[in-house]
Amino acid sequence: MSAERTTVDKSPVWKYFKKDDKKQKFAECTLCGKAISTEYGNTSNLRKHIESKHKLVFAELSKLLTASRASKRQQAAQDSAEGPSTSKCRKMDSHLKERKWFPTDKRQKDCTEKLAQMICLDLQPISIVEDQGFKDFVGCLQPSYNIPHRRVLRNNVIPELFQTQKSHLQQKLNEIKSLDIDSPRRLYGGYCPLPFGGFYH
Ligand SMILES: [Zn+2]
Repeated sequence: MSAERTTVDKSPVWKYFKKDDKKQKFAECTLCGKAISTEYGNTSNLRKHIESKHKLVFAELSKLLTASRASKRQQAAQDSAEGPSTSKCRKMDSHLKERKWFPTDKRQKDCTEKLAQMICLDLQPISIVEDQGFKDFVGCLQPSYNIPHRRVLRNNVIPELFQTQKSHLQQKLNEIKSLDIDSPRRLYGGYCPLPFGGFYH
């Protein structure tokens, strides 16, 4: 028996979760990294998690869920009539612009990538994201940005950054046709001129 369902309309709650490839019946919260059970394609656990753990995001999600239900109803009613109204969507877009960014927002992703780079480059502890001074600083610069949870940085963002940097470096090394670290010895007949002086062994 296949539990697979053809999801025609994906619930808006999936904006905050990604499927865990290793654990089929679980989805990972992109806000805090927690694995939540989604057995039989059930999304109510996901919604409950957002509701209890991420209150601010839940306010947005509720609006999306309401809009999604309303648009489904509207779609059904208007199937034979004119095209669907987009005024509701526009209204919501402008509302969300003043609020926190969605995890799927490119600006949110870009800032998180820069944050991970800063942590690695400046050798900062990941726990910096929990420091009040840092939170205040980020909030002042960009109030729409959601500072990711420490666990998300540690388990996802930084390992992904590492992989990207590693493959970049690999590619650069592959482009090098030859690397001769032995040339001074051949050039100077075993004698190394300044600044090292003396003979190679
Ligand atoms: Zn979470």
